[in-house]
Amino acid sequence: MKGLGADAPYWQALQQGQLKLQQCSDCSQWHWPAVWRCGECGSWEQQWREVTPRGRIYSWTRSHYDFGAPKGLPLPYVSVVVELAEAGNLRLLGHLAANSDKQPAIGMAVEGELFHCEVDGESIPAWRWQPGNTTTEAAQ
Ligand SMILES: [Zn+2]
Repeated sequence: MKGLGADAPYWQALQQGQLKLQQCSDCSQWHWPAVWRCGECGSWEQQWREVTPRGRIYSWTRSHYDFGAPKGLPLPYVSVVVELAEAGNLRLLGHLAANSDKQPAIGMAVEGELFHCEVDGESIPAWRWQPGNTTTEAAQ
């Protein structure tokens, strides 16, 4: 299990069902992947803020071949890069829920749910994204 890197708080929060992302205490720049030192202002003071797992699809692709995907992920699967407005448009990688009958589209509102996937016999918490409802899309 990860836990020794700059991203350790991300994984600890995930174990508790929360999405926490890193923000510079001095200049408010969001960081992902996590950093020890801010690349914008040079500060060593980074804080972790809870963020609502809700965003928009920035990019997506459909995979028809199992490139060593987590066990139990049905083919084909859709990988998504989700942009989080609440976290300075930081982007997270994940996949679109297989039970979604909506076609993925750039800009589509999505909400994340936590699940555990199995990779090399290890259970790892990850985000699975569901298309949001249309009222959410209209409101933003
Ligand atoms: Zn900074």
